[in-house]
Amino acid sequence: MISFSPGPSQVFPELPRYFQEAFDNDILSANHRSQTFMNMYQEVVQLFREKLHMPEDYQLLFTSSATESWEIISQSLTTKGTFHFYSGHFGKKWYDYAQHIHKSTEKIEFDPEQGFEPFKVDFPLDPDIICVTQNETSNASAIDKDVFEELRKKAPGKMIAVDATSSMGGIELDFNLADIWFASVQKCFGLPAGLGILILSPRAVQKAEQIGERGRYNSLNFILENARKYQTHNTPNVLGIYLLQRSLQAREEIQFTDRKARSRMQELENIVAGKDTLRYLNKFPEHRSRTVLGITGTESMISGIKAEAVKKGLILGAGYGNLKNTSIRIANFPAINDEQFEKLKNFLKEY
Ligand SMILES: *Cc1c(COP(=O)(O)O)cnc(C)c1O
Repeated sequence: MISFSPGPSQVFPELPRYFQEAFDNDILSANHRSQTFMNMYQEVVQLFREKLHMPEDYQLLFTSSATESWEIISQSLTTKGTFHFYSGHFGKKWYDYAQHIHKSTEKIEFDPEQGFEPFKVDFPLDPDIICVTQNETSNASAIDKDVFEELRKKAPGKMIAVDATSSMGGIELDFNLADIWFASVQKCFGLPAGLGILILSPRAVQKAEQIGERGRYNSLNFILENARKYQTHNTPNVLGIYLLQRSLQAREEIQFTDRKARSRMQELENIVAGKDTLRYLNKFPEHRSRTVLGITGTESMISGIKAEAVKKGLILGAGYGNLKNTSIRIANFPAINDEQFEKLKNFLKEY
């Protein structure tokens, strides 16, 4: 079966080889204070710079998930609360967790088909971090780079935090446009779940130090102190970090991955546009995700297409939340190879 589920998603086919290598090279029992581990952490940082264009002065940290990053931000990077813009379920969940920690958390919910226009918004004075879900996996919509540029201009004093869980590693992100970025490896990184990535600008690191929050196992200052030595605050997912290292080594630079993702998505969109049976979940191309394709229809049409796909050996992702039965989501992630992509295209063309 080929999985086009947008998370947990299909993994890179090279993984069995990497698993074996990890075993043979004693990675699986490597201590997280050992030289082996420190070298591995350092190389992952280097690979994020080379392959994903993470700026030199940004810090890369390991967490357990994107969900954990939601909490770390509220816990360690603000005393006043955060300000959330969202159009779907993941953005809403982030807001809900944040509000549990700071009562003064604020939000603006926008229509995914209208997008989000920073210049039309009055920013509250209090909350000091703006939280945006770059790729809203639940409704297959995304926020473009120019919106981040506008956001920077509109609120220069505030830090920007970006949930890029289902786009980091799949499209090119301009890390300089925000201070806090996070993701999980089970989406565009094509790896098994259980490892999160948190990336901080110098300003965010400074803010954490200035606030000085400590005492929790995942207090950001504690994570940062360890990261300076290329160690982690707890016993981490060493296998996950090894797989990340190996798969990044094998990858091309992100601008090529980005170009391929965009051209593949264009091909899929051309198919959808040419079929009466298929309708976009988001009608407006400028607000559509490049890594997740959303198709909508009646419950019977949606269950029909999923069942038909399974017969052909393809798993299409179910809808999410209240869109569960009326949409499908198709991952356009780098681990899908050309042959698998052709099968998907042929299936959609013929459906
Ligand atoms: C998958 C996803 C998450 C949750 O990731 P976990 O690693 O399960 O915590 C958060 N945000 C977005 C946008 C996602 O797609």
